[in-house]
Amino acid sequence: MLNNAVLTETRPAPGRESSGAGAEHLRIGGLTPLTSIDFPGRLAAVLFCQGCPWRCTYCHNPELLDANAAATMSWAHVQDFLNRRRGLLDGVVFSGGEPTLQAALPAALAAVRSLGFETALHTGGMYPQRLAKLLPLLDWVGLDIKAPLHRHDAITGAPGSGSKVRESLGHLLDSGVAHECRTTWHPGLFDVAELLALADELCALGVRRWALQECRTSGGAPWALTSGQTESLSARFAYFTLRRA
Ligand code: SF4
Repeated sequence: MLNNAVLTETRPAPGRESSGAGAEHLRIGGLTPLTSIDFPGRLAAVLFCQGCPWRCTYCHNPELLDANAAATMSWAHVQDFLNRRRGLLDGVVFSGGEPTLQAALPAALAAVRSLGFETALHTGGMYPQRLAKLLPLLDWVGLDIKAPLHRHDAITGAPGSGSKVRESLGHLLDSGVAHECRTTWHPGLFDVAELLALADELCALGVRRWALQECRTSGGAPWALTSGQTESLSARFAYFTLRRA
Protein backbone atom coordinates (compact mmCIF):
# COMPACT_ATOMS: atom_id res chain seq x y z
CA MET A 1 0.00 0.00 0.00
CA LEU A 2 2.61 2.44 1.05
CA ASN A 3 6.23 2.44 0.06
CA ASN A 4 7.52 1.69 3.53
CA ALA A 5 10.38 -0.71 3.85
CA VAL A 6 9.13 -3.87 5.51
CA LEU A 7 11.21 -4.72 8.53
CA THR A 8 10.83 -8.36 9.28
CA GLU A 9 11.77 -9.39 12.77
CA THR A 10 14.01 -12.37 13.14
CA ARG A 11 11.57 -14.95 14.47
CA PRO A 12 11.02 -18.43 13.08
CA ALA A 13 8.34 -18.42 10.42
CA PRO A 14 5.25 -20.22 11.72
CA GLY A 15 4.43 -21.50 8.26
CA ARG A 16 1.31 -21.12 6.21
CA GLU A 17 -1.85 -20.61 8.20
CA SER A 18 -5.48 -21.14 7.36
CA SER A 19 -7.77 -18.26 6.48
CA GLY A 20 -9.84 -18.53 9.66
CA ALA A 21 -11.46 -15.57 11.39
CA GLY A 22 -9.54 -15.68 14.67
CA ALA A 23 -6.75 -13.13 15.12
CA GLU A 24 -4.27 -15.98 15.30
CA HIS A 25 -4.95 -16.64 11.61
CA LEU A 26 -3.81 -13.20 10.43
CA ARG A 27 -0.94 -13.72 8.01
CA ILE A 28 1.68 -11.07 8.66
CA GLY A 29 4.50 -10.41 6.23
CA GLY A 30 6.42 -7.84 8.28
CA LEU A 31 6.39 -5.42 11.17
CA THR A 32 7.75 -1.90 11.53
CA PRO A 33 8.20 -1.36 15.29
CA LEU A 34 7.87 2.43 15.23
CA THR A 35 6.54 5.04 12.82
CA SER A 36 5.48 8.63 13.30
CA ILE A 37 4.17 9.12 9.76
CA ASP A 38 1.78 6.25 8.98
CA PHE A 39 -0.88 7.12 11.61
CA PRO A 40 -1.17 10.93 11.76
CA GLY A 41 -0.44 12.37 15.17
CA ARG A 42 0.34 8.97 16.65
CA LEU A 43 3.39 6.89 17.42
CA ALA A 44 2.56 3.52 15.97
CA ALA A 45 3.76 0.14 14.86
CA VAL A 46 2.87 -1.11 11.38
CA LEU A 47 1.77 -4.65 10.63
CA PHE A 48 2.13 -5.58 6.97
CA CYS A 49 -0.58 -8.04 6.06
CA GLN A 50 0.16 -10.69 3.48
CA GLY A 51 -1.75 -10.81 0.21
CA CYS A 52 -3.34 -8.42 -2.28
CA PRO A 53 -5.72 -9.19 -5.14
CA TRP A 54 -4.46 -6.28 -7.27
CA ARG A 55 -1.26 -5.93 -9.25
CA CYS A 56 -0.60 -2.21 -9.42
CA THR A 57 2.00 -1.27 -11.97
CA TYR A 58 4.06 0.59 -9.36
CA CYS A 59 3.68 -1.70 -6.34
CA HIS A 60 6.72 -1.42 -4.08
CA ASN A 61 5.81 -4.34 -1.82
CA PRO A 62 5.70 -7.26 -4.28
CA GLU A 63 6.76 -9.69 -1.59
CA LEU A 64 3.41 -9.07 0.13
CA LEU A 65 1.18 -9.81 -2.85
CA ASP A 66 0.97 -13.60 -2.61
CA ALA A 67 -1.95 -14.38 -0.32
CA ASN A 68 -0.71 -17.94 0.12
CA ALA A 69 2.78 -17.04 1.22
CA ALA A 70 3.77 -18.20 4.65
CA ALA A 71 3.51 -15.67 7.45
CA THR A 72 6.81 -14.36 8.77
CA MET A 73 5.61 -14.17 12.36
CA SER A 74 2.80 -15.48 14.48
CA TRP A 75 0.00 -13.45 16.07
CA ALA A 76 1.32 -14.55 19.45
CA HIS A 77 4.60 -12.84 18.62
CA VAL A 78 2.74 -9.66 17.63
CA GLN A 79 0.80 -9.70 20.88
CA ASP A 80 3.98 -10.21 22.86
CA PHE A 81 5.57 -7.29 21.00
CA LEU A 82 2.56 -5.05 21.64
CA ASN A 83 2.41 -5.98 25.31
CA ARG A 84 5.99 -4.76 25.63
CA ARG A 85 5.06 -1.48 23.84
CA ARG A 86 2.11 -0.55 26.03
CA GLY A 87 2.57 3.03 27.17
CA LEU A 88 5.17 3.62 24.45
CA LEU A 89 3.01 3.39 21.34
CA ASP A 90 -0.34 5.03 20.68
CA GLY A 91 -1.55 2.80 17.92
CA VAL A 92 -1.15 0.02 15.41
CA VAL A 93 -1.46 0.40 11.64
CA PHE A 94 -2.64 -2.51 9.54
CA SER A 95 -1.07 -2.11 6.10
CA GLY A 96 -0.07 -4.42 3.33
CA GLY A 97 -0.59 -5.91 0.88
CA GLU A 98 -4.30 -5.47 1.45
CA PRO A 99 -5.38 -6.06 5.05
CA THR A 100 -9.08 -6.35 4.22
CA LEU A 101 -8.31 -9.46 2.19
CA GLN A 102 -8.02 -11.47 5.37
CA ALA A 103 -10.98 -12.79 7.34
CA ALA A 104 -8.95 -12.49 10.54
CA LEU A 105 -8.67 -8.70 10.35
CA PRO A 106 -11.75 -7.81 12.48
CA ALA A 107 -10.58 -10.07 15.32
CA ALA A 108 -7.06 -8.67 15.07
CA LEU A 109 -8.34 -5.09 15.25
CA ALA A 110 -10.48 -5.93 18.26
CA ALA A 111 -7.53 -7.63 19.94
CA VAL A 112 -5.30 -4.60 19.36
CA ARG A 113 -7.93 -2.29 20.81
CA SER A 114 -8.33 -4.56 23.83
CA LEU A 115 -4.64 -4.00 24.52
CA GLY A 116 -5.30 -0.26 24.68
CA PHE A 117 -4.03 0.80 21.27
CA GLU A 118 -5.77 2.86 18.62
CA THR A 119 -6.17 1.26 15.22
CA ALA A 120 -5.46 2.46 11.70
CA LEU A 121 -5.94 0.85 8.30
CA HIS A 122 -4.22 1.42 4.96
CA THR A 123 -6.45 0.07 2.22
CA GLY A 124 -6.98 0.16 -1.51
CA GLY A 125 -10.73 -0.05 -0.87
CA MET A 126 -11.35 -3.14 -2.97
CA TYR A 127 -13.83 -4.67 -0.52
CA PRO A 128 -16.41 -1.98 0.30
CA GLN A 129 -18.73 -4.19 2.34
CA ARG A 130 -15.87 -5.46 4.45
CA LEU A 131 -14.63 -1.94 5.00
CA ALA A 132 -18.09 -0.83 6.10
CA LYS A 133 -18.10 -3.54 8.78
CA LEU A 134 -14.56 -2.72 9.88
CA LEU A 135 -15.09 1.01 10.33
CA PRO A 136 -16.45 0.75 13.92
CA LEU A 137 -13.16 -0.93 14.83
CA LEU A 138 -11.00 1.81 13.31
CA ASP A 139 -9.72 5.17 14.53
CA TRP A 140 -8.15 6.24 11.23
CA VAL A 141 -8.15 5.09 7.60
CA GLY A 142 -5.80 5.90 4.73
CA LEU A 143 -7.72 5.14 1.52
CA ASP A 144 -5.88 4.94 -1.81
CA ILE A 145 -7.68 6.59 -4.69
CA LYS A 146 -5.35 5.48 -7.41
CA ALA A 147 -6.79 7.25 -10.42
CA PRO A 148 -9.81 8.71 -12.15
CA LEU A 149 -12.46 6.04 -12.60
CA HIS A 150 -11.63 5.33 -16.25
CA ARG A 151 -7.91 4.90 -15.46
CA HIS A 152 -8.20 2.88 -12.28
CA ASP A 153 -8.46 -0.63 -13.70
CA ALA A 154 -5.43 -0.18 -15.93
CA ILE A 155 -3.30 0.64 -12.88
CA THR A 156 -4.58 -2.17 -10.66
CA GLY A 157 -5.03 -4.81 -13.34
CA ALA A 158 -8.45 -5.56 -11.82
CA PRO A 159 -11.68 -4.91 -13.76
CA GLY A 160 -14.21 -2.90 -11.77
CA SER A 161 -11.66 -1.79 -9.17
CA GLY A 162 -12.39 1.92 -9.58
CA SER A 163 -16.09 1.45 -8.77
CA LYS A 164 -15.23 -0.57 -5.67
CA VAL A 165 -13.03 2.21 -4.39
CA ARG A 166 -15.72 4.85 -4.91
CA GLU A 167 -18.14 2.64 -2.95
CA SER A 168 -15.57 2.31 -0.17
CA LEU A 169 -15.05 6.05 -0.16
CA GLY A 170 -18.78 6.53 0.31
CA HIS A 171 -18.78 4.27 3.37
CA LEU A 172 -15.76 6.06 4.78
CA LEU A 173 -17.21 9.53 4.31
CA ASP A 174 -20.52 8.43 5.85
CA SER A 175 -18.82 6.86 8.86
CA GLY A 176 -17.20 9.94 10.34
CA VAL A 177 -14.01 7.95 11.00
CA ALA A 178 -10.91 10.15 10.65
CA HIS A 179 -9.24 9.50 7.34
CA GLU A 180 -7.06 10.61 4.47
CA CYS A 181 -7.47 9.91 0.78
CA ARG A 182 -4.19 9.53 -1.04
CA THR A 183 -3.18 9.25 -4.66
CA THR A 184 0.19 8.02 -5.84
CA TRP A 185 0.99 9.72 -9.12
CA HIS A 186 3.49 10.39 -11.82
CA PRO A 187 2.66 11.77 -15.27
CA GLY A 188 3.24 8.41 -16.93
CA LEU A 189 0.16 7.04 -15.13
CA PHE A 190 -2.24 9.77 -16.29
CA ASP A 191 -1.76 13.38 -17.22
CA VAL A 192 -2.08 16.56 -15.20
CA ALA A 193 -5.50 17.41 -16.64
CA GLU A 194 -6.80 14.06 -15.40
CA LEU A 195 -5.15 14.63 -12.03
CA LEU A 196 -6.99 17.94 -11.75
CA ALA A 197 -10.22 16.20 -12.78
CA LEU A 198 -9.64 13.58 -10.08
CA ALA A 199 -9.19 16.35 -7.52
CA ASP A 200 -12.45 17.88 -8.72
CA GLU A 201 -14.23 14.54 -8.38
CA LEU A 202 -12.95 13.95 -4.84
CA CYS A 203 -13.79 17.49 -3.81
CA ALA A 204 -17.34 17.09 -5.17
CA LEU A 205 -17.73 13.80 -3.27
CA GLY A 206 -16.87 15.57 -0.02
CA VAL A 207 -13.24 14.62 0.49
CA ARG A 208 -11.57 17.24 2.67
CA ARG A 209 -8.15 15.68 3.22
CA TRP A 210 -6.08 14.54 0.23
CA ALA A 211 -2.44 13.57 -0.04
CA LEU A 212 -0.71 13.51 -3.42
CA GLN A 213 2.25 11.15 -3.28
CA GLU A 214 4.97 11.17 -5.89
CA CYS A 215 5.35 7.75 -7.48
CA ARG A 216 8.93 6.58 -7.55
CA THR A 217 10.00 5.47 -11.00
CA SER A 218 13.33 4.55 -12.48
CA GLY A 219 13.92 6.49 -15.67
CA GLY A 220 10.25 7.45 -15.96
CA ALA A 221 8.72 10.83 -16.71
CA PRO A 222 9.73 13.50 -14.19
CA TRP A 223 7.33 15.04 -11.72
CA ALA A 224 5.50 17.58 -13.84
CA LEU A 225 3.47 19.80 -11.56
CA THR A 226 4.07 23.53 -11.67
CA SER A 227 3.68 25.55 -8.51
CA GLY A 228 0.47 26.98 -9.96
CA GLN A 229 -0.97 23.50 -10.55
CA THR A 230 0.00 22.46 -7.04
CA GLU A 231 -1.72 25.52 -5.62
CA SER A 232 -4.78 24.76 -7.72
CA LEU A 233 -4.93 21.21 -6.37
CA SER A 234 -4.40 22.40 -2.83
CA ALA A 235 -7.19 24.96 -3.07
CA ARG A 236 -9.77 22.21 -3.56
CA PHE A 237 -9.19 20.66 -0.13
CA ALA A 238 -9.27 21.80 3.48
CA TYR A 239 -6.12 19.73 4.06
CA PHE A 240 -3.70 18.99 1.24
CA THR A 241 -0.34 17.26 1.52
CA LEU A 242 2.29 16.85 -1.18
CA ARG A 243 4.65 13.95 -0.54
CA ARG A 244 7.68 13.90 -2.79
CA ALA A 245 9.49 10.62 -3.23
S1 SF4 B 1 -3.07 -2.27 -3.82
FE1 SF4 B 1 -1.51 -2.15 -5.42
S2 SF4 B 1 0.19 -0.97 -4.47
FE2 SF4 B 1 -1.12 -1.73 -2.79
S3 SF4 B 1 -0.23 -3.71 -2.22
FE3 SF4 B 1 -1.83 -4.16 -3.73
S4 SF4 B 1 -0.72 -4.24 -5.70
FE4 SF4 B 1 0.64 -3.21 -4.21
